[in-house]
Order: sequence, then C-alpha cells, then structure tokens
Amino acid sequence: MSEWFTETLHPWLAQRLRIDRVLFRDKTDHQDLIIFENERFGRVLTLDGVVQTTEGDEFVYHEMMAHVPIMAHGQARRVLIIGGGDGGMAREVLKHRAVEAVTMVEIDRGVVDMSREHLPSLSAGAFDDPRLDLVIADGARFVAETDQRFDIIIVDSTDPIGPGEVLFTAEFYADCKRCLTAGGIVVTQNGVPALQGWEVTNSYRRLGQSFADVSFYVAAVPTYQGGFMAMGWASDDPAKRRHDAAAIDARFAPLGIATRYYTPAIHQACFALPRFIADLMA
Ligand code: SAM
Repeated sequence: MSEWFTETLHPWLAQRLRIDRVLFRDKTDHQDLIIFENERFGRVLTLDGVVQTTEGDEFVYHEMMAHVPIMAHGQARRVLIIGGGDGGMAREVLKHRAVEAVTMVEIDRGVVDMSREHLPSLSAGAFDDPRLDLVIADGARFVAETDQRFDIIIVDSTDPIGPGEVLFTAEFYADCKRCLTAGGIVVTQNGVPALQGWEVTNSYRRLGQSFADVSFYVAAVPTYQGGFMAMGWASDDPAKRRHDAAAIDARFAPLGIATRYYTPAIHQACFALPRFIADLMA
C-alpha cells in the first residue's frame, strides 16, 4: 500500500505526491521538514505541509527568480537571498561570474543541513562557493539591521505562514529598499494567483509604499499547483523591467550559462500578465 504526501496549503484543494522513500522527517527549530523520493519528481522538500521544491521542476523557479533580475539589472555584483535554504537559488545566482558576493539569510539551519545531505543536486556545490556568505537568521531582522548594500534582493521564502509571514509585510519591503543600491531590484516568491490572488494584491500595495515601479512576472511550476506562479518585482527604475529579448540576449549569450527554462524570449514574455492577474494589482 503506497504512502502519500498530501499538501495542506488550502482548505478546499490539495495535491498528493506518492512517497516512494522517506529520506528525512522531523521538526526543525522552526518547521516540520520532510524530504522524500517520488517517481516523477525525484527528491521533494516540504515544510509545514507545503511543497517547497522538487528535483523534477526546481529549475523553473530558481532560473526565473535568479536570471530575470540579474539580467535586467545588467551590473549586479552583490546579491542577497532571503530564505532559499535548499541552495537552488544560490546555485543559479552563482552561475554569474560577475556576481562577487552572495549573502544568503536562512532562518532554519535544519533546512540547509538536510538539503545538503539529501538534496545535493539543488545546491550543486553552492554552499562551498567562496562568494557565498550563509547567515542563519530571520531575514526580516537582517534587512532591518544590516549596514550592507545589495544590487539584487531575492526573497525565496515560504508562503506567508509561520516564519515566512514577516517576509510579506510593508515594513520588510521598506527595509529591503533601505538595503538596495541605486537602481536595485527586489523579486519575491508571491504565490499562485489563481489560488492565492490576495498575495499579489497585498504585495502590490505593500511594495508600492517603497518602490516606484512594482509589477509581477510569471512562470508555471508544476508542483506549485494552480497554473502560473507570480514573482513580485520592485525597483525605482521602470526601464529595468522593460527589456526586449534581443537586448537581453546580447547580455546573456556571452555568459554561456546553461538553462532549462529561462531564455531571453521568456524574459521578455514573462512580464506579460494574463488579465486576471493584472486585475489583482488593484
Ligand atoms: N521555492 C519555495 C517556494 O516557492 O515556496 C521556497 C523554498 S525555500 C525552502 C523557503 C525557505 O524560506 C525555507 O528554507 C524557510 O526556512 C525560509 N524562511 C521562512 N521564513 C524565513 C525568514 N523569516 N527568514 C529567513 N528564511 C525564512
């Protein structure tokens, strides 16, 4: 008889993934952490009953959250990752040799340790890159207190429940603004609009209190069920969001970075929002 993981993100909809082998299951200092194997998606990381990332489709999310802001910025040297404990985001950011320093602020050391042990394909050595500074702390407190400045801030958080809730507040976004260099960009994990539309509306309003140009871009991640996932975008320079594929290709092609989802054409297209998502930016 198969065992199944049932995601509990919504009271009215759930998804199930068959558990073929449990690799880790325990409470960390902050969250319920399970890592298991599934025939189709490979190794799966879940926190507090919610799928965080899988070997089978993580490339979509990590490539889009890393390469879109870095290629749009054009001169990013210092990147801050809030969350990202599995190491996939750091892996993609560190592919950019021009990036000199990546600070990763993850609240739960258990996620890092268990991901290193049971999900090594996600970080793929990122934790050993000399450019990476791993800080085990609350990301909200870090941006409130740090005197460091960053060109890009990637909020690779859980959903706004539990420890992740503080990473969706106007105060957090204002502190992110304080930590950005001129022309800097913030991108956020902002849920699946078809199921969590209020997250787009809330982030649009809260980011708008600190940034002149706020919008979203989209990608479909199979295990973030419900169609397009929204990624929040905030900067003070609208031009950063408006690049055509040719301009991005001129920057991206020479880098020789291998991707499975991100392309310059996708970069241009991902900011084109379906009407129902654009309408959430009320
Ligand atoms: N890709 C996933 C998604 O879209 O939901 C997110 C993956 S990553 C595992 C999310 C990380 O955010 C977790 O490791 C969690 O521990 C971390 N996190 C949650 N709240 C945090 C906080 N306040 N400060 C820093 N990290 C936090």
